[in-house]
Amino acid sequence: MGIDENNFLDYKSFGIDENVISFGKLVEGSLTERFDAIESIAEKNSLKVLYAMQKNRVSTECFSMSTGYGYNDYGRDTLEKVYRDVFSEFQDPDKEKYDALVRPQITCGTHALALALISNLRPGDELFSPVGQPYDTLLNVIGINPSKGSLMEYGISYSESPLIDGRYFDFEDIKQKLNEKTALVTIQRSRGYAARKTLTVDEIGQLISFIKGIKPDVKIMVDNCYGEFTELHEPLFVGADLLVGSLIKNPGGGLAPVGGYLVGRKDMIENAAFRLTSPGLGKEVGASLDMTRSFMQGFFLSPEITKNAMKTAVFAGNCFSRLGFHVSPDDNEQRSDIIESIDLKTREALIAFCEGIQAAAPVDSFVIPEPSYMPGYADDVIMAAGAFVQGSSIELSADGPLRDPFRVFLQGGLTWPQGKLGVLMALQKMYERDLYDKSLLC
Ligand SMILES: *Cc1c(COP(=O)(O)O)cnc(C)c1O
Repeated sequence: MGIDENNFLDYKSFGIDENVISFGKLVEGSLTERFDAIESIAEKNSLKVLYAMQKNRVSTECFSMSTGYGYNDYGRDTLEKVYRDVFSEFQDPDKEKYDALVRPQITCGTHALALALISNLRPGDELFSPVGQPYDTLLNVIGINPSKGSLMEYGISYSESPLIDGRYFDFEDIKQKLNEKTALVTIQRSRGYAARKTLTVDEIGQLISFIKGIKPDVKIMVDNCYGEFTELHEPLFVGADLLVGSLIKNPGGGLAPVGGYLVGRKDMIENAAFRLTSPGLGKEVGASLDMTRSFMQGFFLSPEITKNAMKTAVFAGNCFSRLGFHVSPDDNEQRSDIIESIDLKTREALIAFCEGIQAAAPVDSFVIPEPSYMPGYADDVIMAAGAFVQGSSIELSADGPLRDPFRVFLQGGLTWPQGKLGVLMALQKMYERDLYDKSLLC
């Protein structure tokens, strides 16, 4: 193929057809306003992070590593203050209400959520989800799928109220299901990989007000995965008690190689810390090893990185809806996470799409993804991911089960050029195999 040296390196050099490139240009040109709005959110969130870093006097000293018990780890403690201030949006000047736990010992998002639940619930309590069934991996944690060590095994029960049409709160049902045993309410912000709607921070606020109006003392946790920095506010701002998420998604900024976070009410963070390490030890131990610099720098970059992922999602949604595919969210919906789903209609299209995403990666671009069996899934699943960090989904990635409507979930993109290349490459692979009406390209 070769580089067109007269024109510099461009998308053509990656083997993308002129028709696809000009279609991409056309779509991108129509998105100026959308991209400006996303820029503006990123700018404000970046200032929030920078302000918190200055206020907490982040210094070179923070980046020295601790080993062993990790006593008096100044960098770790400072990082946790920065997280606390950013996600509580400086609502707690006396530092009495909120705290944070941001650790490499929290192995992933599921672990962070499991930790939050099991440390803040006691035998006899009930956990309640007012937004339907939670993320797949939590089914084992809760015991909906029987599992060793589940909440159910410890005598913690569970109830849920499904979203009506995957979209609206069932206030009547929620009221009925809140009972004297209900101790903790879990609200998942992002749709994850379900057919439901992603909740905006505003919608989460309405739900929290309703629930606290009925049961003021109930603890409210938000699974914040994929949502961080996609809006101007985070759910603590609208009354949540605890936020939980993964550092290999938005807040790690692509630099955190591992980790999870919890930010929220001080007593709830203490419960979690006593469970993560040990009763009596809590936050005082936990060596940061050599992680603090990448956690801090990743958090610093995160609003900008999240912006690139959002632009990629918006671009993909617009390209594919013009070609006649059902996409979600569509252009009229406010976004509150970085995920775009596209119903590709055929097995061939889903495979071609994932091949395109893989071919645009900085790592493992030469690999061809293939559908395969995954534990816990009824159908074969195909995944595209060429990431610096294994399983990182703030990096450009796509996956979907091979069943009707052959829905692919696209997320991430550390840089806009790579996100754009990924979408163009997906369009190209489908173009080559005649998987959409080419006359729609112009
Ligand atoms: C990713 C995710 C999780 C679980 O995180 P892992 O790091 O994959 O364990 C939980 N909830 C939601 C909404 C997620 O997107």
